[in-house]
Amino acid sequence: MMEDGLKTQTEPFPEDHVQFEAVLKELRELPEDDLEGKLVVSGFVDHPYGEDDQRCLECMYYLVHRKWCDLPELAVPVEPEWWCRLWRI
Ligand code: SF4
Repeated sequence: MMEDGLKTQTEPFPEDHVQFEAVLKELRELPEDDLEGKLVVSGFVDHPYGEDDQRCLECMYYLVHRKWCDLPELAVPVEPEWWCRLWRI
């Protein structure tokens, strides 16, 4: 989907716990199988992002061996070089 140019919501990046929770709440309101909605709301991109080239690989939710996002609200397969605005270390 991202290769096809899906426009996702990369901004605003949640700056604190309250903003982070607000994005999670938005995700929880989506149907479980709405993959496109999850990608859009969480602001997925298929490359490193920002000044620091943040990537899933360094994110606390990334499961290296499964190539999986362990954040319950997402729970999708991800590549190490991808990124979303729920990135955390
Ligand atoms: S929360 Fe976002 S950046 Fe972190 S592993 Fe999941 S998809 Fe990647």
